Order: sequence, then C-alpha cells, then structure tokens
Amino acid sequence: MQSQTVYLNGAYTPIEEARIPVLDRGFIFGDGVYEVVPVYSGYPFRLQQHLARLQKSLDAIALANPMPLAQWSQLVRRMIKMHPWKDQAVYVQVTRGVAKRDHAFPKGAVPTVFVMTNPMSVPDRKLVANGVACITATDNRWLRCDIKSTSLLGNVLMRQRAAQAGSIETIMFRDGFLSEASSSNVFVVQGKAICAPPNNHLVLPGTTNDVVMELARKARMPLEVRELSEDAVRAADEIWLTSATKEVLPVSRLDGKPVGSGKPGPLFKRMYKLYQEYKRTVMRRG
Ligand code: PMP
Repeated sequence: MQSQTVYLNGAYTPIEEARIPVLDRGFIFGDGVYEVVPVYSGYPFRLQQHLARLQKSLDAIALANPMPLAQWSQLVRRMIKMHPWKDQAVYVQVTRGVAKRDHAFPKGAVPTVFVMTNPMSVPDRKLVANGVACITATDNRWLRCDIKSTSLLGNVLMRQRAAQAGSIETIMFRDGFLSEASSSNVFVVQGKAICAPPNNHLVLPGTTNDVVMELARKARMPLEVRELSEDAVRAADEIWLTSATKEVLPVSRLDGKPVGSGKPGPLFKRMYKLYQEYKRTVMRRG
C-alpha cells in the first residue's frame, strides 16, 4: 500500500502520524461537517458542487469557512497529485476545533481542517449488472439530514443493519414516505417516470442525485420530484441508489423480495450509460 499523506491544519503529514487533541469538538460532540469528492483519472468530479455543499453545511452549523473556495480547490487538487491512484475519494472535514468541553460554542476556537484521500474503485460490474439488495427501516434520525454532519450515528446504525442482513443499504421511510438510504439517495421508477423525493430537511441534497436529474432532463426522460409513499416504493418498477462513490446502482431486491422484474430495469441501463458518458466528457474537459 502506497503511503498516505493527510492534510491537518496546514501541515502535510503521514496518516499514521496525524493527531488531533482529545478535546476536539469533532471527537467530543461530532460537531463538524464533511464532504467526499470522487476523483476519476486524477480529476475531481463536481468539485465546485461539493465545495458549495460544504459551505451550506458550515452555514447551517454557524461555523465560518476556514478557507476561501479557491484555496479549498487548490488543497484538494494538491492532495490528489500527492497520491498515485487513478481514481480516489477525497475526504474533507471541518470541526469547530479544540475547546474545554461545553456544549455551547467556544469563543475563539480555531476550526480543525482535515483532508485525506483514499483509492476508490467504481462499483463492480457485477453489482451494476445484477443489482444490489437493500433492506428498509423507519427513519429515526434527527430532522436536519440536509446537513452533511460528522454526527453520523443514526446513519451508522442503519448501515450496520444492512450489513448484518447481507445488504448494501437500508432504505428509510419517515411517516410512511421515502427519505433516503443510510449513505445514498434513492430514486424510484414508476412506469416511464423517474421519481425522487424533494430536497428538504429530511434528506442530504446529493451531488450525484443532481447529476442524475440533470442527465434525465437533458435526455428528456420524465422526471417527477414528489413525496413517495412506502407502498409506492415497494411497488416500484425500479429502484436506484445514488452516491458519489456508488454512482448509480440498481436495487434488485428489497427486504428479500424482487424489485420489478428482479433485474436492473431499462431506465437504469439508460441512466447508467448517460452517467458514464458524462463522466468521460467531464474528464476530457479536465
Ligand atoms: N444521503 C446520505 C445520508 C449520504 O451519506 C450520501 C453520501 N454522501 C448521500 C445521500 C449521497 O450524496 P452524494 O451523491 O453527494 O455522495
């Protein structure tokens, strides 16, 4: 394994040597936000959109952005160049810094900035060809799921349920309506229409979700953004998961039952192609 260099508060350090103080509010309270940026052939994918969402998350927790946009961009690109992997996932985290333990915001604390990158592999062809299994659960997370917070215990417990069931994700319903999965957004196909729940406080506004919607609009595929009942999801012709590292994945089994035909559907296949084409154009543009 290639040695890994991380960025921590202005210094580039081997990952084994990077340390944060125990009083960091990220450690004590999960008081921080993060982003994961996929990198294809050395090019960060939708970097500006990820940095814009980082800004939104920081605004939502009233934490001043420790760096201007251009500097973030430079830092991410430098981290990519320091590692030889073709495809990478850059992880960016900002916490409210180190202070005596007290829930209220500290005065004068300096935010902790941490960036690392890991090799990333695109989803296995087999998963794309056969689809993945998901389970379902009632969404019991807090009501600010639009913030990409490092306080991920709710998501962690949901993802663990899926892992224990031999599934890839847990798809969640709140008050009988689809919200999202533990680390992905969810699309549902009903007949010819691609449907997605609206972006509100109950879901993370996914960068991949945006790409899929843009591609659907461009290709004039019918797209409907609306509340989707649990019954509608269970009766769907197709279900897709989207996330920066999963891209678009077809769900072929939900709670052990086949989704639609039990095989990835025609609209998924079309969208998957559009997504791969889009990636290639973005990489060519650099
Ligand atoms: N929802 C949750 C809860 C997530 O953790 C993620 C992954 N970051 C997503 C949705 C998808 O977001 P993106 O497409 O930007 O990766």
